[in-house]
Amino acid sequence: MDKQLFTSIPSVNALLQSEAGLALIARFSHASVVEAFRVAIDRLRQGAFSVAHVDDLAAALTGEAQVFLVEKFAPSLTRCINATGTVIHTNLGRSKLSPIVLEELTNAAFANTNLEYNLASGGRGSRYQHLEAVLCELTGSEAALVVNNNAAAVMLVLDTVAKAREVVVSRGELVEIGGSFRIPDIVERSGCCLKEVGTTNKTHPDDYARALGDQSAAILKVHTSNYKISGFTKEVDVAELAAIARENNVPLIHDMGSGMLIDLQKFGLPYEMTVQDSLASGADIVTFSGDKVLGGPQAGIIVGKKTYIEAMKKNQLTRALRVDKMTIAALEATLRLYYDEALVLAEIPTLAMLTASLAALELRADQLIKTLAPISSASVEIVDTQSQVGGGAYPGEEIASKAVAISIAGLSANELAEALRRASVPIICKIRHNRCELDVRTIEADEFDVIAEALREILG
Ligand SMILES: *Cc1c(COP(=O)(O)O)cnc(C)c1O
Repeated sequence: MDKQLFTSIPSVNALLQSEAGLALIARFSHASVVEAFRVAIDRLRQGAFSVAHVDDLAAALTGEAQVFLVEKFAPSLTRCINATGTVIHTNLGRSKLSPIVLEELTNAAFANTNLEYNLASGGRGSRYQHLEAVLCELTGSEAALVVNNNAAAVMLVLDTVAKAREVVVSRGELVEIGGSFRIPDIVERSGCCLKEVGTTNKTHPDDYARALGDQSAAILKVHTSNYKISGFTKEVDVAELAAIARENNVPLIHDMGSGMLIDLQKFGLPYEMTVQDSLASGADIVTFSGDKVLGGPQAGIIVGKKTYIEAMKKNQLTRALRVDKMTIAALEATLRLYYDEALVLAEIPTLAMLTASLAALELRADQLIKTLAPISSASVEIVDTQSQVGGGAYPGEEIASKAVAISIAGLSANELAEALRRASVPIICKIRHNRCELDVRTIEADEFDVIAEALREILG
């Protein structure tokens, strides 16, 4: 750029007062637009972009400022399409809430509520009152408490019933979940001492019985959420463990991870113990997540014997781990759906996806193909694929599913996957057999047009 152009760069003030400048201020605030014009002028001086004519300076700087502002004001947490087939994808926000919870969620967020107010007495109430009855009814529990997440639930339980004493855990259940949650570390951070029993593949009732002594405060059973030990194995089930716990006068704590409230065997998934079964088999305290298979918001749910739960409510830690009013609203509305099993399967996206039949998925794949058909330069085809449950449920289990495989001439599978990730609404797919697959198990019908739009964007 020549010298004369540099001396003609308009002032920030002049740019602000132009018609385009005023339009930006109306949209992005005065201070941000000032910042954006300063950045644009600096970038021009540094040669990051160039302008051919003096007459084009103002427009070019305004365009540059607008790009800066749009980026600055774009939300960091943004909508994505989960085309991976992993139903409970922790990196993509786990369970989507049921649209049915919207009204309660909106009320909790934008209106005053009886969050901690007792409408009958006109005095102080408890935020936990809203969830306890429904949780007890659904699980057959005596009492219930909900905290920030399941990791918090396990810490609170251990801190309350086992602080400064021993917690007995099988070596086959020393689980790590996503790196930040490791049973040995959580036990230690809760001020307890870990007493490992058995071996990696086999733990017998005797191993527990021998390990329990004066210093023992609890037995902890942990769901091996993200791995499966197969072959020459033995674990002690909840009923047997409960008997050993009773004999030794310690509570049995069961960290179930996902926490199923309904048995999904009739939909072709393998047997997983439900929360009700665990309590009925004698577990004293059961903890599970709100946003895994349950299909609700992030939360850690604790059910079990009243004496323990009452002690947890009085624990100072509970205040630090407490749930927000929006969580309570969304969780209460989600839990109420469980009164009707047909409703739960239809209305909770996580469960609808997990139980979708292959025939329904084939139909959905067909509809997606039809939506994409007008985009002639993308080649699309329905293929068989495998979905996963994810989120620490049904480890190692693959469910037959259908996907639409996409390829675009001149783009490798990796390049196409990256382009899909960079679309206005990012699409996260999986790559199998060197092609991008969109697994329709985790895609909803109202997302088809968005996918078509993204492909048009990519093809320019
Ligand atoms: C997922 C999981 C947790 C952690 O639950 P968050 O709700 O993510 O805190 C703890 N224990 C087990 C067995 C799990 O599967």
